[in-house]
Amino acid sequence: MSGLVFEIDDIPLEGLEFSTVQQRSHFDLNQPDCALCDDVHVEGTLKKVQKDVYLSGRIVCALNLNCVRCLESTRFPLQCKVSARFTSGTESPKGKMEVELQASDIDAESYSENSGTSGKSKHQVDLTQAIHDHIVLNLPTVCLCDDNCRGLCQHCGANLNLGSCDCDKNQAVDPRLEVLMKLKDKLK
Ligand SMILES: [Zn+2]
Ligand SMILES: [Zn+2]
Repeated sequence: MSGLVFEIDDIPLEGLEFSTVQQRSHFDLNQPDCALCDDVHVEGTLKKVQKDVYLSGRIVCALNLNCVRCLESTRFPLQCKVSARFTSGTESPKGKMEVELQASDIDAESYSENSGTSGKSKHQVDLTQAIHDHIVLNLPTVCLCDDNCRGLCQHCGANLNLGSCDCDKNQAVDPRLEVLMKLKDKLK
């Protein structure tokens, strides 16, 4: 069982503090340009308020993202806060639970009430989706391998961080600028 699944009945009135390390494979974050590259640390508190469970905590993880300038994969450490509210799902007549994310509200997720083999109803809350969503929400819009990344040569595509290319300096002009420069020559 995942370290991110908690029995709601086990959460004391004063709240439950937890700290857990989850393997990156547990989360569906493995795209070529965006992948977890390390275990995911989660620590926080779960609190029960009537039938709802509130999560507040912190996520520490690291991802491989592509630098927007040189396109090289670069390790990006990410720390962010996480907060979520889990509400009880809707119970169907047969006692089976439907887990549904409440419409367009990322902060409220339903938890499942599975009927265990013992026949006793199990109340569980799974933090996986909330953690996943908060990591995605906190991804940088622009990722640079280095603030001084020199990017790629616009002509030959060489990674200029690895050294300068042989392109003629005169040719290495942004094509959009080139139009303006020709215009400038005409005006002379
Ligand atoms: Zn770069
Ligand atoms: Zn070049």
